[in-house]
Amino acid sequence: MHPEMNVVEPVAETCCAGKSGDVLPVDIAGAKAIAAAVPVTGIERVPLIEAVGRISASDTVSTISLPAFDNSAMDGYAVRTKDFAGSGPWRIPVSGRIPAGNGSGRRFPPASAVRIFTGAPVPKGFDAVVMQENCKRSGNTVTFSLKPGTGQNIRRAGEDLENGAAAVPAGTSLTPARIALLAAIGTEAVEVRRKVKVGLISTGTELREPGQPLGPGQIYNSNRYFLRSSLKRPWGEIYDFGIVPDDPETIRVAVREASETCDVVITTGGVSAGEEDHMMDVLRRENAELEVLKVAMRPGKPVTVGKIDGALFFGLPGNPFAAAVTFSQIALPAIKLTAGMKSVDTSWMPAVSGFSYRRKPGRTEYVPVAWGGRDTDGRPIVEMLGRGSSASLSPMAVAMATAVLPPDMANIEPGMPLRIEPFCE
Ligand code: AMP
Ligand code: MG
Repeated sequence: MHPEMNVVEPVAETCCAGKSGDVLPVDIAGAKAIAAAVPVTGIERVPLIEAVGRISASDTVSTISLPAFDNSAMDGYAVRTKDFAGSGPWRIPVSGRIPAGNGSGRRFPPASAVRIFTGAPVPKGFDAVVMQENCKRSGNTVTFSLKPGTGQNIRRAGEDLENGAAAVPAGTSLTPARIALLAAIGTEAVEVRRKVKVGLISTGTELREPGQPLGPGQIYNSNRYFLRSSLKRPWGEIYDFGIVPDDPETIRVAVREASETCDVVITTGGVSAGEEDHMMDVLRRENAELEVLKVAMRPGKPVTVGKIDGALFFGLPGNPFAAAVTFSQIALPAIKLTAGMKSVDTSWMPAVSGFSYRRKPGRTEYVPVAWGGRDTDGRPIVEMLGRGSSASLSPMAVAMATAVLPPDMANIEPGMPLRIEPFCE
């Protein structure tokens, strides 16, 4: 690829799509979307086993200690360290045997050791476990050559989680690990937010669905498939309003129906300033509180963010890569907050450029990248895929991540540190 081919125009101050002439940095645009997000209020109680990926609606406080009792971390012998006076080896009689699952409160005679297994309760008065590999059993006695330390190989009651502590706070995505913790404290069912209802409308007279024949000038609707796939989340429910042609009244009816049914409405296409881009006119008639954001991002073009009938609204560009990037960067974080998540983090990673790219500063640019190798610090050495065209699908299909080029970064050279973000996996 020839680097000059990637030189972009300066920020499009002349773009006339917005109400105001301001061009917003991406993070401000994202913050506006987040500010408009209101978490759904409905709560459902679901069996723990069905709760993966749902958003917790309340704090789950543990009513037991974890572990619930002091127990052995090893197969071996429970001992009292005070029995190890002077210098070893020490021969101590074995006075009993405690397998896991045995809750006996049995007492054992002084100066004795107890055969014990991993997870079995450590008997009262015993303050160390010696692993079986470090002792020698013969008949009814066991010989130790090393003096055990107090507390050695004992998992103390409450060391994992104290009784009364919050195991999982409200507003958290229930990952497999959190589900396991909830199970360990005996949670049978968990309160989660109801699923957020997301309405999708694909605008464009030229659009056809896969499976249909293409007429002249027609294209397949790929944005619908991208968005439906990206939104297939345990916390969401998709309401697909299909393809709507570029006819203002048809768009108005579809948007109205979607906003009455859903918590979030996403449209693609029709948000530019072209004669066939009706979205803004239509939405103004719906008394929507909307703002066209001219975001200093590439790809991106105008993105509409706002509210209609209490539904959060995103008007995304029609170009597939632009729709994908604006969805991931601006819409998705706000949708996650609507679903009830307390916070959303970008999970960027450090990488190193393996390419040269000359660009004019001013916009945050999202570049599809892939890598085959890493530098000595383990950072991926990334190569740019394609020319970053907002209409291209192949580079994003091949991409392992997107590199985020900040507005002030002009020329990129091999070896320069870059940030990469996972791309809608
Ligand atoms: P628009 O934002 O309506 O001006 O559309 C910009 C470009 O994206 C045009 O080339 C459209 O044909 C294309 N486009 C719009 N919607 C979709 C879609 N759902 N899937 C694929 N391409 C689309
Ligand atoms: Mg269009």
